Amino acid sequence: MENCIFCKIAKGEIPSGTIEETNQFRVVLDVSPATRGHALILPKAHYTNLYDLPEEMAAEAMKLAQKMAQRMKERLHCDGVNILQNNEEAAGQTVFHFHLHVIPRYREDGQKIGWKPGEPTSQELDEIRELLG
Ligand code: AMP
Ligand code: ZN
Repeated sequence: MENCIFCKIAKGEIPSGTIEETNQFRVVLDVSPATRGHALILPKAHYTNLYDLPEEMAAEAMKLAQKMAQRMKERLHCDGVNILQNNEEAAGQTVFHFHLHVIPRYREDGQKIGWKPGEPTSQELDEIRELLG
């Protein structure tokens, strides 16, 4: 992927705030962080999103997220951590190279990551369970 900014960052071709590196991943600080310490887990190989990420890589990414979350608790003394991952524009993806957000949270950080709770009927829940189950 010639023009993918995260390919270049992940492979170390352009400088980044790297906080961890493995054979297959680089973890960098987000340049427009939601909170202090907001990090991104990037595979060095290009995958557009979760749909095309090999399952072993998905497992490795989550292991790294766990390690980063534990490190954030220990060193930043955050009050919580969100793990977030967007797929496609409709879901808020803006950079089309798979990445996992690791966002330390602080009680008074003023950020909101959430949704308006829906109120489905039991028939709607049954229908969706049929479709997805
Ligand atoms: P998403 O909306 O899930 O695609 O997230 C993209 C994230 O990448 C945003 O949080 C951006 O702030 C972050 N971002 C974009 N460009 C860079 C960059 N050059 N270095 C680090 N983070 C970046
Ligand atoms: Zn890429």
